[in-house]
Amino acid sequence: MVAAGLVAIGSGPAGVSAAETFRARHRSIPVRILSSDPALPYAKPPLSKQFLCGRPADLDLHSEGWFERNRIELLRGVTVQRIDVDAQEVVTAGGARYPYWHLVIASGAAPVPPAVPGGPNAQPLRSFADAVALKMAARHAGTAVVIGAGLIGCEAAGCLAALGVATTLVAPEPVPLLRRFGVDVGERVVKMLFDAGVRFVGSADVTAVVESGVVLAGGENVDGDVVVAATGVRPDVRLAAEAGLTIRAGRIVVDEQMRTSARNIYAAGDVTLAYNVAAGRQVVSEHWRDAALQGRVAGLTAAGVPAQWDTASGFSCTIGTSRLAYRGWGGPYERCRVVDQRDGFVATYHDGRGIVGRLVATTSPVS
Ligand SMILES: Cc1cc2nc3c(=O)[nH]c(=O)nc-3n(C[C@H](O)[C@H](O)[C@H](O)COP(=O)(O)OP(=O)(O)OC[C@H]3O[C@@H](n4cnc5c(N)ncnc54)[C@H](O)[C@@H]3O)c2cc1C
Repeated sequence: MVAAGLVAIGSGPAGVSAAETFRARHRSIPVRILSSDPALPYAKPPLSKQFLCGRPADLDLHSEGWFERNRIELLRGVTVQRIDVDAQEVVTAGGARYPYWHLVIASGAAPVPPAVPGGPNAQPLRSFADAVALKMAARHAGTAVVIGAGLIGCEAAGCLAALGVATTLVAPEPVPLLRRFGVDVGERVVKMLFDAGVRFVGSADVTAVVESGVVLAGGENVDGDVVVAATGVRPDVRLAAEAGLTIRAGRIVVDEQMRTSARNIYAAGDVTLAYNVAAGRQVVSEHWRDAALQGRVAGLTAAGVPAQWDTASGFSCTIGTSRLAYRGWGGPYERCRVVDQRDGFVATYHDGRGIVGRLVATTSPVS
């Protein structure tokens, strides 16, 4: 049996940041990351901004040597099957047991395929392996269909078009990014997509994924040698739920220090419903920076250092030569005010009490 210490489940930003932060405070306690992902930890945002488009992308979070030097044991391609809360151990799919004093669940979220016949055949874009597979498929494709006009769908469509693939983005909403940013912004995003070479088909339900592309509710076929599913993700709470931790709205409930309902177990990243001190409420975030920050808070809390999650969310989205940069709480708003500018626009989101988010869009001139 190996020595107990801090165990992080997942090698995304939350798990790596928790391990790194804890290690910086305690030099000799064993620190382990167990991850089902076989790749060296990597940055996901560049996958759909640079890597898929064939542009130079800085993906590595840390080198293999960095993990060795910092004595963080990184077990790649290892899936945790269950958490034995009483014994304070995690059990892998291969039956190995790793004891913990502190456990950080950072299992992230898994893509949800379109719930239609053939849906599971659409290619996801969640991991490095997915991005490589998609890039390879695009090399041999003349046409592509991307299902889902959220952030990833818009970025992926822009990349595929940049690779010279005739790309159609299909979504049930009338405009892209509707739920997040509203109609006025969505209409401007349609123009960004058009300028990036993407055809947008809104108010269209995909009823099947077939060999030649997709079939829409009206019976129309949209050609796609490649079909991409950008139909959302679901937090991976199975381990936590089976261990009896408190789950709400499909997420692990944590306080501002990332403590779950179980002793010595923390959670961080996309898998959480976490209390944000600045917002004064529980906040859902599925963003890179928040996952890393929550991981840091979990690592500090486990190390016995006071810490809390108290920053507003922020993320960006790249579509062709356009960039959307958002900062705010991402929740419901009552009013959106959009001001056009020479190279883009600024959208400000208000609720009854004040500004809850700000989106800045800029388009670079084509060089
Ligand atoms: C293509 C793409 C582009 C993105 N772009 C942006 C962006 O521009 N800005 C932004 O803010 N966010 C972006 N995101 C979202 C961002 O990457 C996520 O919010 C972030 O990765 C969440 O981090 P996490 O550590 O919580 O989970 P993840 O990064 O999902 O990592 C979860 C880890 O847990 C592992 N795991 C799961 N279950 C188990 C198990 N049972 N046993 C062992 N390991 C397990 C997985 O293999 C994985 O390593 C993007 C995401 C993608 C896919």
